[in-house]
Amino acid sequence: MAIIGSGATSIYLLKHLLDKMSVLKKEMYSISIFEKNTILGMGMPYNPITTDLYNLSNISSEELPDLEVTFEDWLKKQSVTFLKKMEIEKDKISKSEVYNRLALGQYLQSQYQSIIQNIKDFGIQCIEYPNTEIIDITYNNTTKFVSLHSTTQLYEFDKVIIATGHQWEDDDQEKNGFYASPWPIHKILPQQGTFHNFTIGTLGASLSAFDVVSSLSRRHGKFVTDSKGNYTYQPYKGTDNFKMVMHAAHGWLPHLQYEQEKPIREIYRHFDRKALYNALDEDGFLTLSSYFTNFCVPALSKAFQKDNLTQLSKKITNVDYTFKDFVTDMADKHEYDNPFEGMREEMKQASVSITKNKPIHWKEVIDDLMYALNFHAELLPAEDHIFFRKEIMPFLMNVIAAMPLPSAKILLALYDANKIEIVPGYVNILENKDFTTIEVTHKDTQTIHLYQMFINCSGQRAISVDDYPFPTLVKEGYITPPQIPFKKDASAMELTSEEKEKIIKKGNTSLYELPGITINSSYCLVNANGDTIEAIQDISFAHSSGLRPYSYGLQACSATSEIVVANWVASFQNKKLPSGDLKEVSKIYEKDPQL
Ligand SMILES: Cc1cc2nc3c(=O)[nH]c(=O)nc-3n(C[C@H](O)[C@H](O)[C@H](O)COP(=O)(O)OP(=O)(O)OC[C@H]3O[C@@H](n4cnc5c(N)ncnc54)[C@H](O)[C@@H]3O)c2cc1C
Repeated sequence: MAIIGSGATSIYLLKHLLDKMSVLKKEMYSISIFEKNTILGMGMPYNPITTDLYNLSNISSEELPDLEVTFEDWLKKQSVTFLKKMEIEKDKISKSEVYNRLALGQYLQSQYQSIIQNIKDFGIQCIEYPNTEIIDITYNNTTKFVSLHSTTQLYEFDKVIIATGHQWEDDDQEKNGFYASPWPIHKILPQQGTFHNFTIGTLGASLSAFDVVSSLSRRHGKFVTDSKGNYTYQPYKGTDNFKMVMHAAHGWLPHLQYEQEKPIREIYRHFDRKALYNALDEDGFLTLSSYFTNFCVPALSKAFQKDNLTQLSKKITNVDYTFKDFVTDMADKHEYDNPFEGMREEMKQASVSITKNKPIHWKEVIDDLMYALNFHAELLPAEDHIFFRKEIMPFLMNVIAAMPLPSAKILLALYDANKIEIVPGYVNILENKDFTTIEVTHKDTQTIHLYQMFINCSGQRAISVDDYPFPTLVKEGYITPPQIPFKKDASAMELTSEEKEKIIKKGNTSLYELPGITINSSYCLVNANGDTIEAIQDISFAHSSGLRPYSYGLQACSATSEIVVANWVASFQNKKLPSGDLKEVSKIYEKDPQL
């Protein structure tokens, strides 16, 4: 078999393969790993090619799914020189602390190397191909072989797993100061001895925007704890006009890191498989309203109770209380006239949560519930996919992609030094000519902003089929966009013109085209005729997150690859083809302790 990409998803795939190697070694004899970069086993966000020392991870050792040793134990064994370079204090290393992403990258790479060695010890050949970008894939439907094409060679396999991870599509226009993503971060940093002595805009105010803020602020000043114990920012001379403006649709800053009772997500923690299948309607749809009423309401009501939010605990059980009401209520609690002052207030609660190990239960429970929904999302009707993306995802990403407390301290110090602000409203990028001009719409009012440097920090989206990296698979119909049926009459719905364009009529049925690609429940490609291509599985979330929109972070990387591996093992043991039907695959969720 071959794996394209050697980031975190690939590392977890290899780990799950290793765990089942006593069964799998009878079926496989070699694993080839293709990586377009020089460094194998690190991936995009944790790599010195893309990332700066000042970019923090938002996951602690106790939240990381198992690899060979824990991140905490690994850090404790590192040399003083290494820890000093990573600005980590040896005595303070802990399982609940978050560290910079470069340190996490070194850890991931060490785990990757150790896993590869252990797989080799089973007698399996592991062939690594650094600096080898796969530029196309072809599939022979007769022999069932898959060919991988690099610029110079062709390689043939029985099985290929696509784990290509992040894909930033748009091009930078450096001449006009427009950056389509902040990566690699080095491209936006001032050259040694110079400053960006002007205002810099970001699209987004979440974790990627914070990476920009963190890296740039370090180049224009320093953070100092003053004699009164206040954490302050002291700008360097000659940086008077350096300032950062973050644009965010709702004007929200992220929620803060919180203590969790159970840091590792579990698909069937709050309900079981049988209950889920009982909640399907007569057409086989899992509607969001049924999911909310049957599973979210009881679990959240209990969580609110534990958090002493008694009123909400009762309110959520009202028969006419909807998912939208929940989002509105919780978003209102996070809505401030001044989001920085709001963050200062929330810091108090978050600090107690972390230092006194006091979990904030509702946040953990909603994360669990959405994680569980994600692995059943193919059951949602089209209108619920639309609603989920539009109304639920922005709220979830704000709560769950939580900001570590050290990052919040930095943000507040910058705010106090008048070096940062946030502007609410929807951004429309008008033109990039010498400057980037944007139009911001907030409460029906439009304003125009001009930036010498503007960075799109809105994060990874599911890519469209046109941007799929392996063109022959698209041309030959092996890659198609997911098309999901509506439950209700699509023509009677209030949809934007963009959404209406994605409706496809097939006979009497209206289908909705999602971003990303069509895969079955065990991540095999499904071609234009609806046939499953067992030989190719795509677990890159930039491709699969049209159908599975909440595949966020390292826990999802691990779960996705475990589903693939556990499904193979089940098929070998049962001596039948792996099933791609959710009804079968969900039996694995039920049995597998890692899911
Ligand atoms: C800036 C940023 C920060 C993040 N921080 C966190 C965090 O703190 N905690 C967390 O849980 N999650 C975080 N995430 C989520 C992140 O998606 C996962 O943690 C993880 O990196 C995803 O791993 P991956 O292997 O799927 O993708 P990637 O990390 O993108 O790895 C894919 C690999 O495939 C290689 N590749 C791609 N195409 C080809 C090709 N055609 N041929 C050969 N090789 C190829 C790439 O070079 C890369 O090494 C972050 C995401 C971003 C963007």
